Amino acid sequence: MPEKIKRIMIVDGSSVSRTLLTRMLKEELTSTEVLGVDSAEAALAAMDEHSFDLITTALLLPDMDGLSLSRTIRDSNKHTYTPVIVVSGDADSRLLREGFEAGVTDYFDKSDGYKAFGIFIRSFMQRNSGLVGNILYVEDSKTAASVTIKMLEKQGLKVTHVTTAEEGLTILVSNEDNGINDFDLVITDFYLMGKMTGGDLLHAIRVKLHHSQQELPVLVLTSSDDEQTQVEVFHAGANDFVTKPLIEQVMIARVRALLLIKHQYNALKLQAETMRWIAATDSLTGVRSKRYLLDNGENYLRESQLPVWGILIDIDHFKHINDSLGHITGDHVLADLGVMLDSLFADDMVVRFGGEEFSILFREDDYENAVRRAEDLRAAIESLKPGGVDITVSIGMCCSDDHPNQPLSRFLSLADKALYFSKENGRNQVSVNTVEGPLQINAAALQSAS
Ligand code: GH3
Ligand code: MG
Ligand code: MG
Ligand code: MG
Repeated sequence: MPEKIKRIMIVDGSSVSRTLLTRMLKEELTSTEVLGVDSAEAALAAMDEHSFDLITTALLLPDMDGLSLSRTIRDSNKHTYTPVIVVSGDADSRLLREGFEAGVTDYFDKSDGYKAFGIFIRSFMQRNSGLVGNILYVEDSKTAASVTIKMLEKQGLKVTHVTTAEEGLTILVSNEDNGINDFDLVITDFYLMGKMTGGDLLHAIRVKLHHSQQELPVLVLTSSDDEQTQVEVFHAGANDFVTKPLIEQVMIARVRALLLIKHQYNALKLQAETMRWIAATDSLTGVRSKRYLLDNGENYLRESQLPVWGILIDIDHFKHINDSLGHITGDHVLADLGVMLDSLFADDMVVRFGGEEFSILFREDDYENAVRRAEDLRAAIESLKPGGVDITVSIGMCCSDDHPNQPLSRFLSLADKALYFSKENGRNQVSVNTVEGPLQINAAALQSAS
């Protein structure tokens, strides 16, 4: 999503102070327009012309008190919600007494220095950036809906409006079926035209779709005298309720709090997925980690409809490559080999099994095809020189058809026997551990057969 250009106004009677504050903001917030004005009158004129995302004011202005300016901003139409920050050196007691009532959002103590001001505002903007979210809104009254939709859209929110709980639920269920997680918040009126109330929708979201309060917050709209309903919706898993008629500022504050919950939930989920990915991936080669094999290999082997093949690959005389070309070149060889294996076995489970050994699990019901894949791999490594180095590999493999119902560790040790056989027989070759034991693959025979 492209970042919208932000506009900040600095109101300060002192030109030195104004210049310094402006410069600090421009340094900290590069994609922000900063306007400095010297009086409340100039500030109000500028507010008519532009919308500001943030206004800072000195406590003492040539023509008005900073707190009075804040009150005027709160009463204005366009800037009712714009954060107002008082920048002053000596304001503590007055701000504590009157700042809240005057609608002051925060206070910056000038004695912290101009540099700190830039950092303060940047972090403030990050914490209070506009609302982002996709809302499913269920409301049967046309008039109420149009007012609320405007309210939400003004904040930059995307709204999908339906008039019955049934429609709302249909959308959520079909999203669920398609693996889409479209909505960050459901806002529903309690009394609706269809058979279902907003409470029924809420109940379905929690017990049928199993969306927790963090995963899909629900805000219920009730009438102010309906306390019974308010208690009930909490029992049914509502995050909060708002009474009708809606007070815009209350409504937006609730929406903001619920979206914060949802966004934090998303961030945690993403972090958990990232951690899982890191644990599942070998950092040098990009193929799956041994951990991943241990967690998933057994299922792969057991639940496959087709015969599963296990391959073990070990680089020949890799110690010599490290010794003669250096460990770093050795690492490049491994990294390149990883990329190669991943592309040749893109649909299969490629794992860095240990130092310079890789394992692959793949499904193939044609014996000869499976063996040919391994032999083609061996030949490709020999001719493609991973990391620019001439290397060869020895390969051992086995098939679940020859060795049925083996646990993964036993299955791989059968492939390892074949690998050992390849090494013993002179390396740079493929062997299969058949029912009768290890057997070397005759590359020439495979070639002429194809
Ligand atoms: P062969 O398998 O043909 O019997 O000989 P080899 O020289 O490959 O034998 P061995 O398996 O004993 O040695 C493997 C070497 O791989 C030892 C170790 O230094 C090197 N190695 C293991 N992991 C890494 C790594 O991450 N980077 C590099 N550069 N070398 C590694
Ligand atoms: Mg209604
Ligand atoms: Mg080895
Ligand atoms: Mg080796």
